[in-house]
Amino acid sequence: MKIRVSQLAAAAYAMALLARCASGQQAAEKRPDSAVRPIKALRFRSLWDGRKLWPDAVVIVEGDRVREVTSDARKIPPQAQVVDLTKYTGLPGLIDVHTHMTMYTDETPGVPMLKQITGTPPAVEVFLARKGALRTLESGVTTVRDLGADQYMDIAMRDLINRGEMTGPRMFVSGYGLYVTSTPYKPGLNPPAGGIADGVPEVLRAVRQQVAAGADVIKLYASTGTDDDVTGFETYTYEEIKAAVDAAHQFGKKIAIHSYGPAGARDAVRAGTDSLEHATDLDEETIAEMARRGTYYVPTIDHNRYYVENGDRIGYPPGFQDRLREFIGRNLETARRAHKAGVRFAMGSDAIYTMFGENTRELGWFVKAGMTPKEALATATTNAADLLGKGGELGSVAPGCYADLVAVDGDPLADIGAVLNRVRWVMKGGQTVVDRTQSAP
Ligand SMILES: [Zn+2]
Repeated sequence: MKIRVSQLAAAAYAMALLARCASGQQAAEKRPDSAVRPIKALRFRSLWDGRKLWPDAVVIVEGDRVREVTSDARKIPPQAQVVDLTKYTGLPGLIDVHTHMTMYTDETPGVPMLKQITGTPPAVEVFLARKGALRTLESGVTTVRDLGADQYMDIAMRDLINRGEMTGPRMFVSGYGLYVTSTPYKPGLNPPAGGIADGVPEVLRAVRQQVAAGADVIKLYASTGTDDDVTGFETYTYEEIKAAVDAAHQFGKKIAIHSYGPAGARDAVRAGTDSLEHATDLDEETIAEMARRGTYYVPTIDHNRYYVENGDRIGYPPGFQDRLREFIGRNLETARRAHKAGVRFAMGSDAIYTMFGENTRELGWFVKAGMTPKEALATATTNAADLLGKGGELGSVAPGCYADLVAVDGDPLADIGAVLNRVRWVMKGGQTVVDRTQSAP
């Protein structure tokens, strides 16, 4: 009986602390080396912690975690290394929930980027990807979800970053996305993808293979549409989609479902997907269902802007601009309707090729779609962390959270442009990874 009471008390305590990144704090308390972990005190003009604004903020960092947030400078421990960021506004490290980190391409002129993606050996690809990873950090993004890579390059990259062998954002990866045979179509000779699955038994096998390979999340392509192809024909049946969703959830994994058009989106939402990627022209019923279920919408509007501007270098055949621009319009309109209906959003750039570093430009589209800057910031912090199932460790600046922070010049709650264009300093897990405080104008 005694044991049961203390277990209950411990559970209640854990629940109470959960919202404040307590899991990390408890882990920190258990670590034997706690006496020697360095202490840093970060001073900001103000801090948006993900929920509220602190004037004259002090963030006390111990090791890789936040120990305390305060406006009282007298609380700075005497041994702390003080980092003066009092010219800037502090924010939680940002989260991009839709990337393809391993598909970074070299900018060597004359080599179409599409060809590089299909023609570069995996080891070379992962090595090149470090540049995209650095640029991602420079944009203030300290965590990404990666939704589709070949040869498990994403798993290799995630592990290299976690081991400190590569500098980059912490990654939550999906391995191979699930496709039906021959979609999405890519020009050129392509080796058979590891994620091809037709029919319920193959879908189950493919989901289990990704989990067995070490994937954190499952990705499924429920429609055509990629690169300069903006068709959105549903490719899977409802039964196949439902099987993937249930198999992912059975293993405690979340699932992200790609659909360019409304039919795949409707079935993905009905089947219980955790997030819906891209989708345009959502019907009213699907939008209402997303709001009711709390399904995250990741519209990735900005990646088509990048394709319009870079399609020639990527290697798209002529004529791509008009259909991409038309898709952007429908994408933005769908986002506007979904936001109005109370659907939750998470920021996903769909960064690929050389788009890394432009990860947060999506937030500008969200403001265009009717969000306040504060609502837009939530999509890249608290909402995104919740979608990752990491609300207890990421997306907030609070005791026990990872010490992931960004300093921007200006007031991002008044002007989202401060996040898009004026990131001056970035910390990931207690380490400064970007510092432009000296070179900034
Ligand atoms: Zn994608």
